[in-house]
Amino acid sequence: MRLSLTQISLTAVVALSVLFSSSTVTVSAAPAIRPVSYAGHRVVRINIQNQAQLDALTAHEESLQLDYFTHYKVVGGNVDVRIAPEHFAEFQALNLDYNVSIENLQSTIEEETQENDAYQTKFEKARKANARTPGQVFIAADWFAGYHTYADHQTWLSTQISTYPTIASSFSAGKSFQNRPQAGIKIGSGPNHVVFHGTQHAREWITTMVTEYLADQLLKGTDTRVAGYLQKYTFHIIPIMNPDGFVITQSSNRMHRKNAQVNGGCVGTDTNRNWGKGWGSPGASTNPCADDYRGPSAFSAPEALNIANYLKSLPNVALYIDIHSYSQLIMTPWGYSATPPPNYDSFLKPLAEGAANALAAVNGVQFTTGDIYNTIYPASGNSADYAYSVGVKLPLAVELRDTGRYGFNLPAAQIVPSGKEFWAALAYVLDNLGV
Ligand SMILES: [Zn+2]
Repeated sequence: MRLSLTQISLTAVVALSVLFSSSTVTVSAAPAIRPVSYAGHRVVRINIQNQAQLDALTAHEESLQLDYFTHYKVVGGNVDVRIAPEHFAEFQALNLDYNVSIENLQSTIEEETQENDAYQTKFEKARKANARTPGQVFIAADWFAGYHTYADHQTWLSTQISTYPTIASSFSAGKSFQNRPQAGIKIGSGPNHVVFHGTQHAREWITTMVTEYLADQLLKGTDTRVAGYLQKYTFHIIPIMNPDGFVITQSSNRMHRKNAQVNGGCVGTDTNRNWGKGWGSPGASTNPCADDYRGPSAFSAPEALNIANYLKSLPNVALYIDIHSYSQLIMTPWGYSATPPPNYDSFLKPLAEGAANALAAVNGVQFTTGDIYNTIYPASGNSADYAYSVGVKLPLAVELRDTGRYGFNLPAAQIVPSGKEFWAALAYVLDNLGV
């Protein structure tokens, strides 16, 4: 069994709900669930040198309760995994070639929390000062200087929509398992549709911010190309595709990846292994406690089903981008099959390469490109494959910064540089889609 921490957290939630539902005692507020601690957990990068090492790693991944931060698991490749301190000796006994990239994950999380707290203190002060003006909703001018709460992201969306009513409107792709909206902003009025979202995987916080940064660029229109984009395209942008998971990362478990559906005693289906195209092929787990658990059936996760239905409801979807972190990759279908689609060499590949070149020109940051299966790992039931199968012209699966120094806990100082460089990649694609 993997991910016992998630299980412990779930057990606590279930125990509390049983306690309170069967009790006549009135409580004003449920006691806070103690957040999952990652004290002593290491993140290690393993270089898999031969088949025997790959087999040893695979054979021990459940007993070691490995949490794969990256999933590329082939001979000659590197893979990042989180290992709890109580399993480290067993891991060392495997004699694999590895180095420790994060010595104590809890310290990294605490650094992130301190940085966030400092930012939030400033943010609250400005919000209070602003509240003296009746009717004003406050969004900080330096919104992209920090990470934000789920509630503040909702306020950000509604504020943008009321600030730019002639070009923007609100929409929701549907409701999550716990009934939160998959809220978005629609920008522009062109006949070709562009859909993108962040935070399909809950712990990938940079993706929420970069998705909003792209929306901000389209709304403010400081890039002279934007007016043309808004006539040619209609953008449908969802910063938080998996709101339940995102809330879990902010309240109890910073490393939660999946949604909030309970399966076999563990919390979450990996929504990005739950889409209908190629579901059930290699590259997804059947173990409900695994971080890449595919779910009991295709589209059992409402978050994936809703976006799929939304994509199908739009005519002429020219571009779909599912934004993840980390690893610095721009990828195209397929993830479920080793053989790329027929227009891979003529269309998908050159566009991904052009986007990566445009991105690198901004800050010198290199992104690798290719098809999902051969670039990182087999990943069946993923969103880009599904989008391609329903006629989306260019579906992209993107992994933002970094390459493992901070992993999912990317410092807030990297939000704006990440946004700027990805805006360049997006602009390249919009200019070259041939629509
Ligand atoms: Zn992801």
